[in-house]
Amino acid sequence: MMPMSSEQKLIMLPGPTNVSPRVMQAMLRPIINHRGDAFRQLYGGLLGKARQLFQTKGEVLVLSCSGTGGVETAVFNLIRPGDTAIVPVFGEFSSRLAETVELAGGKAVQVKSEFGKVPPLSDLQDAMTKAGRFKALFLVHNETSTGVTAPYAREASRMARDHGAFAVIDAISSLGGYAIPVDEWGIDMCVTGSQKCIAAPPGLALLSVSSKVVDFLKTSPPKTRYFDIPRYLEYGANGETPFTPALPLYYAMDEALKEFIEEGWTKRVQRHDEMSKAIYDGVAKLGLRAVASPDVRSKTVIATYYPPGVDDSQFRKSMSQDKGIVVAGGFGPFKGKVFRIGCMGQINGGYVDRTLKAVGETLQKLQHA
Ligand code: PLP
Repeated sequence: MMPMSSEQKLIMLPGPTNVSPRVMQAMLRPIINHRGDAFRQLYGGLLGKARQLFQTKGEVLVLSCSGTGGVETAVFNLIRPGDTAIVPVFGEFSSRLAETVELAGGKAVQVKSEFGKVPPLSDLQDAMTKAGRFKALFLVHNETSTGVTAPYAREASRMARDHGAFAVIDAISSLGGYAIPVDEWGIDMCVTGSQKCIAAPPGLALLSVSSKVVDFLKTSPPKTRYFDIPRYLEYGANGETPFTPALPLYYAMDEALKEFIEEGWTKRVQRHDEMSKAIYDGVAKLGLRAVASPDVRSKTVIATYYPPGVDDSQFRKSMSQDKGIVVAGGFGPFKGKVFRIGCMGQINGGYVDRTLKAVGETLQKLQHA
């Protein structure tokens, strides 16, 4: 086992998250030819494991880019100039998704809610009915910026399909902590990132792609080189990627997915349920208020308001320097007002207890300073 550096802190960010020594060690495997048999074997195995993550018999891709690249892949492969897309907007990442649709030449119909909440499903239905013909629904499942989860990914996807549209889910900060069985739920594309609930290092995006998308792309090739899905599928059929893969990250991802498969879906989801409950209960005991309404609170990102008088940068600096624990600040309108704790991947009772104790002690120190 590789000794962790003495600099290693407990990473309680909503991604990147803690990575096991076993997964870190995997990155030290030898550099190999990405056009050779050893890589084909690695990639074939990796795609098989990724299918278990998405619970799909369809196509999956592993891209050498962060989650944003995965989202861009989904948007630029589906949206053509003039297309309309429905985008629920309830935080930073869903706002970016709407912008990406516009960058691709599409029109994003934004269905908005206050941050900390999720637009009601009936508002999505109304927007779809009003739009009549639209190309796709792009839904962020878990808004990492506010610690809120849209509880209706399945229903919203069905509604989009009923309108003849594609259903695309950004599950970057949720898949692996939540199960999202894409075939069963009729999701056309689902995107996730390596650095969140899969507990691999940052740098890879994974995507599931339905046969409906594959068929569409045969008649309408996308205008992108790096994110060209048909090209990935063509090379993937031969166990290769079109461009040079980030090999050490592929090794790490393969190992992280082995860990995920060894644990199994039931235990993994249960662990995220239990650990997030422990964090919500713990912060409530400390007198902190969660950003998310109780019915939509995320199991993978816990965002809470600071008590009056606590400075965000002082708090996070003290947590890191004095306690060796890294937590995240707030985004946009929440900057300086909120901190966020990741509950992802390797999360366990020991990490939760250490974090809650450190949060309590640090707040007390700063409030009485
Ligand atoms: N979408 C969501 C929901 C996210 O949480 C993030 C990152 O936190 C992204 C997209 C962007 O991913 P990345 O930073 O890996 O590019």
